[in-house]
Amino acid sequence: MRIDVFVILASVVGAKLAAQLILSALNRAEIRRHATTPPPAVAAVMDGETYGKSVSYSLEKNKLEMLELVYDALILLIVLVGGVLPWMFGQIGAWAPEGRWDDALFVLATGVLIGIPALIFDWYGQFRVEAKFGFNQSTLRLWVADKVKGLALTFVIGFPLLWALLAVVDLAGRAWWAWGFGLIFVFQLLMLVLYPKLILPLFNKLTPLAEGELRDRLLALANRTGFKAAAIEVMDGSKRSGHSNAFFTGFGRFRRIVLFDTLINQLEPEELEAVLAHEVGHYRKGHIPRMLLVSAGMLLAGFAAIAWLMQSTWFNPAFGLPAGEPAPAFLLFAMLGGLVTFWVSPLGNILSRKHEYEADAFAREAMGGAGPLVAALRKLARKNLSNLTPHPLFSGFYHSHPTLVEREAALTRPTV
Ligand SMILES: [Zn+2]
Repeated sequence: MRIDVFVILASVVGAKLAAQLILSALNRAEIRRHATTPPPAVAAVMDGETYGKSVSYSLEKNKLEMLELVYDALILLIVLVGGVLPWMFGQIGAWAPEGRWDDALFVLATGVLIGIPALIFDWYGQFRVEAKFGFNQSTLRLWVADKVKGLALTFVIGFPLLWALLAVVDLAGRAWWAWGFGLIFVFQLLMLVLYPKLILPLFNKLTPLAEGELRDRLLALANRTGFKAAAIEVMDGSKRSGHSNAFFTGFGRFRRIVLFDTLINQLEPEELEAVLAHEVGHYRKGHIPRMLLVSAGMLLAGFAAIAWLMQSTWFNPAFGLPAGEPAPAFLLFAMLGGLVTFWVSPLGNILSRKHEYEADAFAREAMGGAGPLVAALRKLARKNLSNLTPHPLFSGFYHSHPTLVEREAALTRPTV
């Protein structure tokens, strides 16, 4: 690698790492500052002992996060500077059949290879940190099985998709990037529908919510809020973790709401109703198509950028790869794109937090008051040992959801 390329690369990687470490250090200091003297709002959410546990848990996760940031940055530099990519390109080109198949294989195999070092942190987080605080329910066997399934899916889905994308680059001429965008966007829409039906069941068991009072209440709420014929399913999240969650998948008549079994065990029926009302709020306020539009815009911009970099004489060669070759350009973009998007990622979070406030307001309306949702949010924060005192810069930069204190303040603010 040329010295000027190295200097630019090291500065860009270093700038992102420095910003991340500063944010994490600020967050750490903020947690410690409140460790012995919690802000008044905390008393309503956690007792002293639970708060102490949430502080230790947050500090432990923060330490791991900072180590991982440094580790990831080093791995990225080692891979790019150490000639891993040209070596892989030569190896696969030498024994795989010439053409799109070996190009697709190069991208996937290299992606998998450079993902291996990160597994250490994944394992440590699950079986050391999560386990220490009683959240881990997974076993080494299940963890390995998950990784193997994930790897298999990468090839089963990724391989034909990449092949098709490389074919588009070959055949569509100068405007290939618009066609490539179309291909991936359609694939994403298809996945929204297929993911809960085909992929999620490979990892989790989904069962329709059992008949009974809870189901009646939730369906009544769904009808009342204009979310008709909704499928409400329960996912066995407890198989891996004690953390709880609810989410929304699909669109149109494929839409469904998935509740973790852990969530059902932790909340009272009325609180679950409020959580469901919040999810319905996302649907009724049009958040899903809006987020889809934003991600489509970013995808299109990404493809335009790849097209520009691909036809340049300097991008691939700077990393020891042949100029004009599509597959290396895609791979490099995937590895380097985050160095740029990191700086604009807070914009997406600002939009996401705005949607959370809107969904909360919707739930308050549907429930005839803020009480049930506030109770649910407090309980979830307690059960998940959430960090109640994140640094404002940290949460402003990274968090897709407002903090508990912010959400409560908005929920209990009188409406005009
Ligand atoms: Zn939400």
